[in-house]
Amino acid sequence: MNSKTPLTSLKLQTQLLRKQLGKQGIDNADPVLSRMEAQLNMVTRLVGELLDLSKIQAGTLEYAQETVNLDDVLQEVVEIVQQMQTTHTIVVHRAASPPLLVGDKDRLEQMLLNLISNAIKYSPGANTIEVDIKTSEEAVTLSVHDQGIGIPQEQREKIFERFYRAVAPHQRAFPGLGMGLYIVAEIVKYHGGSITMESEMGKGSTFQVTLPLKRT
Ligand code: ADP
Repeated sequence: MNSKTPLTSLKLQTQLLRKQLGKQGIDNADPVLSRMEAQLNMVTRLVGELLDLSKIQAGTLEYAQETVNLDDVLQEVVEIVQQMQTTHTIVVHRAASPPLLVGDKDRLEQMLLNLISNAIKYSPGANTIEVDIKTSEEAVTLSVHDQGIGIPQEQREKIFERFYRAVAPHQRAFPGLGMGLYIVAEIVKYHGGSITMESEMGKGSTFQVTLPLKRT
């Protein structure tokens, strides 16, 4: 079952339309099509997150078990994000040795995508996001740091809850439904890791994920 199929098909049709209109010399359709594509991407993400949420609740979310290099996953995510977002530069500090884990590559990609997208979304006045990967004997620690609006102290535990959104001034100006971090926390938990967050209002936030490395 793939409930995303109609959306995929809609996206393809938008691309087709762009080509056909281009051939007819109708260039001013481009911004409209780009907005349509952006909205379609948002709906696709929303449907995906709602499905994930239902599966988490039903205990039927499935994970692949493969060897994953977190450095490679990060590189892919950075490329995807930088194609869509040009407001922020993502500065990456890589690990000295390859951070190999056992787990689900797509889910780990989703985890990183959520953390980095949030860092960008909640730091409209900044232009860099820093991502660090460090390895120790047994674990890899990944941190995503932004110079954004920050999260009030008393709400820091709650942001990992389903549908929770911080209520600090200005927070509500940002679109979202409060599902991302709940899914991130689930993915981290499945991989046997932990997630913490530090933040200073008006200065920024750092999300830190620690995951066990593959045993050799
Ligand atoms: P969404 O962004 O869709 O609201 P999330 O589950 O990803 O949902 O995040 C939950 C809440 O945590 C957000 O609504 C926001 O208030 C807060 N938050 C998450 N990441 C950041 C960040 N990098 N900086 C400031 N606030 C954040």
